[in-house]
Amino acid sequence: MKIGIFGGTFNPPHLGHLAAARTAIDVLGLDKLLIIPAAIPPHKELPEGTPAPEHRLAMAAKLADALLLPEKVEVSSLELDRAGKSYTSDTLAQLKETYPDAELWLLMGTDMFLTLHLWHEPERILELAGVCAFGRTEQDGESVFAPQREHLQKAFPRARVTTITLPGLVDISSTRLRELLARGEGAEYLQPSVYGHILMNGLYGTRADLKHLDIPELRACSYSMVMEKRVRHIRGTEEETVRLARRWGADEDMARRAGILHDCTKYRTGEEHIAICEQYGVPLDDLERTAPKLLHSKTGACMARHVFGEPDEVYEAIFWHTTARADMTTLEKILYVADYMEPNRDFDGVERLRELAYSDLDRALLLGVETTIQEMKERNLPVHKNTLQAQAWLREHGVTTEG
Ligand code: ATP
Repeated sequence: MKIGIFGGTFNPPHLGHLAAARTAIDVLGLDKLLIIPAAIPPHKELPEGTPAPEHRLAMAAKLADALLLPEKVEVSSLELDRAGKSYTSDTLAQLKETYPDAELWLLMGTDMFLTLHLWHEPERILELAGVCAFGRTEQDGESVFAPQREHLQKAFPRARVTTITLPGLVDISSTRLRELLARGEGAEYLQPSVYGHILMNGLYGTRADLKHLDIPELRACSYSMVMEKRVRHIRGTEEETVRLARRWGADEDMARRAGILHDCTKYRTGEEHIAICEQYGVPLDDLERTAPKLLHSKTGACMARHVFGEPDEVYEAIFWHTTARADMTTLEKILYVADYMEPNRDFDGVERLRELAYSDLDRALLLGVETTIQEMKERNLPVHKNTLQAQAWLREHGVTTEG
């Protein structure tokens, strides 16, 4: 098994780190990549204003998640959990014990590679792992790497050194990024979920007013609250809500915001959902208490209103986007239908739903509601009363899915 080890302060992790991790996995053919934030780096001081270790760990976990390879990429708190300076030689020795048969590869950018011989116990490091070095800027070519490679191989004959080129090179450092963030800039160098984590926690001197965020910042916050694999669906829903709002004369900005936030609590535990509902006084029936899938719409609505300051219309649209209800507003119908048929959805009948969504919104809504009822029956699951009431209300008002 080939394991890559990517250490750093990740203060914060940026797109340069992401490009390096992605390329190293491919080029080295790694079976596993461990992203390991340092507790106390031996080579540099942690600057004033460095967020608590939990934040660096959480941001590194988002970097790992952004690679969308959950079976391969892990973030490890091994160095944060160990007392004292984070010496790489100790980390490698610890990993060698955990994975005795693995081939270890230490990943590092130019700055680290050029000073490797000055690290604590370089010989031990080079015995335990191969080194995979990559450039951080366009200038870091073979002329920069070759002399150090030769030097290491002469001084440590057993050293295995390989250099790789990053196709998606991003010329940025965390130091520069911290300066940019404090001035309200730098988002383009960050994975949106990491940027969202920074904004939501006010890290690095960002002072975002969460109740008045612009669209890119609102997206980043929403993505920071979910797993990366859900972001595609959220983007698709945002696109679709806006298109449908245009078609049916609803408020485009509210539709967009509802689309962006509708699933923001999707990965909360059942207990967390119940706690949020209690905090904001949302009454729950017995079915909802046992079915967290139903609760994310209620808790997502709570976040939209109480954390992001969204108006009642957005709150209600998110609140009803899973169960639907009798007598829905146009915006509520739009989010319900968009969530069902956004461009990434793929199931038997989705094309018909897409056609109806633009020709007759009520019929599309009824089709969605009845598809859900049917699916619940097939899976022997109870149907929520609001869903049945939505169906009854539409049928009483002459809506049908036939024809
Ligand atoms: P700082 O500016 O705080 O020193 P940094 O941007 O160098 O931080 P680290 O967390 O210290 O980030 O880096 C972890 C590893 O990632 C190091 O091996 C470093 O060389 C590498 N690295 C950092 N930035 C880039 C980049 N833009 N492209 C490729 N590799 C990078």
